[in-house]
Amino acid sequence: MKANIYEIFVSIQGEGLYAGQKQLFVRFAGCDLACQYCDEPASKGGGKLRSLSEVKKTMEKVCSRERTRAVSFTGGEPLLQAEALKALALHARRLGLKTHLETNGVRWRELKRIAGAFDVIAADIKLPASSARDFWTEHAAFLAAAPEKTFVKVVVTSKTAAAEFNKAVNVVSRVRGAIPFFIQPATPKGGVRPPSRAKLDSFYRLAALKLEDVRILPQLHKLWGIK
Ligand code: SF4
Repeated sequence: MKANIYEIFVSIQGEGLYAGQKQLFVRFAGCDLACQYCDEPASKGGGKLRSLSEVKKTMEKVCSRERTRAVSFTGGEPLLQAEALKALALHARRLGLKTHLETNGVRWRELKRIAGAFDVIAADIKLPASSARDFWTEHAAFLAAAPEKTFVKVVVTSKTAAAEFNKAVNVVSRVRGAIPFFIQPATPKGGVRPPSRAKLDSFYRLAALKLEDVRILPQLHKLWGIK
């Protein structure tokens, strides 16, 4: 079996619940969404087909050298290559690594098949204005199928409408009201700008009305100037 992999590298996790943890990143190539704020557009089209044994050997070598104890499978969208993803995650477990999956939170059928291979899932909720269409049904099904250690991330920009953000909060609160919910101000890029402090505060209040664990966190790796 082969996987289309964009890159494998070690860095510091800059998003979500495990920010600050040194991790091995296995970035899958390919994604079927087109988010305006995408921070990895090159990975959507690029990549190289690699045998799983080659990827496993690289993972082993890098983890042993860097003393990493966790691996993040990221993208692109890793669930587009679900069988290869599962095989690599199970191998990572055998190496003693905690397995994290970073996903756009849409492909719930694939998740259902392979959820058991992951210790932590970071699932996006995509807002329609940034992603060209809505995925509310898919996100609800995804969260219902996700394991206990799952957290959610919603990227917001200066243009995000309160009504859309509120819809995301409603979807999450109906399925998993206690899940950690990260409001991530977009990293400035091209025409994309983060929201103002006042807007962030109002989003926080909206979310905290219905959800138990709301946090605001920008992409720390971008602030640190690392990958
Ligand atoms: S889902 Fe992720 S990789 Fe795909 S376009 Fe959106 S931000 Fe980029």
